[in-house]
Amino acid sequence: MGEGDNKVSVKSCCDPLTFSIRVFGCQMNVYDGDRLRGAMNSLGWSEMENALDADVAIFVTCSIRDKAEQKVISELGRFRPQWERYGRPSVALVGCMAQRVGESVARRFPWVKVVAGPRRLGAVPASIAASAEDGRTRIILDEDRHGTEDLHEMPVSRGRPHKAYVTIANGCDQFCSYCIVPYVRGGFSSREPEDILNVINGLVSAGAVEVTLLGQNVNSYGRDFCGVNGAYRFAGLLSDAASVSGLKRLRFTTSHPIDFGQDILDVMSSDDAGNICPSINLPVQSGSDKVLREMNRKYTRDEYLDVVGRIRTALPNVGLTTDLIVGFPGETEDEFLDSLSLIESVRFDLVHSAAFSPREGTPAAARTDQVPREERARRLAVINDVQFGISKEINKSLEGTTCGVMLDDPAPRVEGLLQGRTVTDKVVLVRAPSEMTGEIRSVRITGSTAWCLEGELI
Ligand code: SF4
Repeated sequence: MGEGDNKVSVKSCCDPLTFSIRVFGCQMNVYDGDRLRGAMNSLGWSEMENALDADVAIFVTCSIRDKAEQKVISELGRFRPQWERYGRPSVALVGCMAQRVGESVARRFPWVKVVAGPRRLGAVPASIAASAEDGRTRIILDEDRHGTEDLHEMPVSRGRPHKAYVTIANGCDQFCSYCIVPYVRGGFSSREPEDILNVINGLVSAGAVEVTLLGQNVNSYGRDFCGVNGAYRFAGLLSDAASVSGLKRLRFTTSHPIDFGQDILDVMSSDDAGNICPSINLPVQSGSDKVLREMNRKYTRDEYLDVVGRIRTALPNVGLTTDLIVGFPGETEDEFLDSLSLIESVRFDLVHSAAFSPREGTPAAARTDQVPREERARRLAVINDVQFGISKEINKSLEGTTCGVMLDDPAPRVEGLLQGRTVTDKVVLVRAPSEMTGEIRSVRITGSTAWCLEGELI
């Protein structure tokens, strides 16, 4: 929230209504937050930085980990003194956590006046306005796993004008045994291609030079289409999106190994527009066939390695990252070592590793053979240690090369440095004036750590 003090401005009845917005979790939530911001502005509401100065604080929430939900609960608790004294701000709880536990949260914190699941985003602005008018609580949850009441709002007001995110599909039907997403975000449904391409065109016209296509499993885009778009898949969308005039960089996340077909690689390797970034996050989750089966990932270690081989053949300079869970219920030491050996043999640029964290309501959480917390932590430390060495070696090998870097923001903690990204999604720190933010510049790499590169403008 950023409220260091307890000062609250006193509103007159003629002041415009105000909102604040806070996003927890993934980029899909950032995208939803940007669209909600635009929709609230269109209704004539003004945005406040400090939630305690607003009439309504909007929380776009995440349920992936218990920690993300606990953070929201603790933020909600901090509203009590202001609510009891001034009757504001009320809260609109939106997204995955709202879908999962929003009703009980609203009972516990009476200032939560709107609860809306992630597929009911389109109903949120009007519900906030109605609740501000009559003070009543509105609970709008996703009851239809495949239905969507979307928000048709262009996310033009964004934190970084040069970078934009576009959700291309909602929900997931994979039901990995540890994951809460299919329960809170509902079934997989693709947005219409025309809709997505219109949004990308609009974003580029509004100044975006990089767009990232988002979904829980972007590679299965179009699987649910029939009729006129029946044969239109992710490869087609990628190719069409890359053709949007003025778009300099196109990325996508997240991928799933079972849907990463050769057609996608063909589009990426031919890349006529020259703007599809050779950067892929391909979650493996485990290197053990038994654990993969119990995770319901639907591929084997060899099948995963086959996809990696095809990717590296098609895109020799690809930036490849993965997600990995250690300490899944029943994971033996040998099965953990299978994950370790996979990490060592693939040599990813980066591994997003996590110790298994049970999510209530998933099959994995109900298992009785949980790996003790300390052992999960030990395995995580081992993986991180090995990957640290690999990332360091890969980054060291890039010293002396030149690359295009999109300069994104001031680097944290160091005056005069901007941080940016290469097409392979490596972070680069460069001494450059802040006016260059949003530009793509040629940079010579002069130094490196396991986490980032350092460079100088050419
Ligand atoms: S693919 Fe698996 S891990 Fe990813 S969102 Fe779907 S169920 Fe969750």
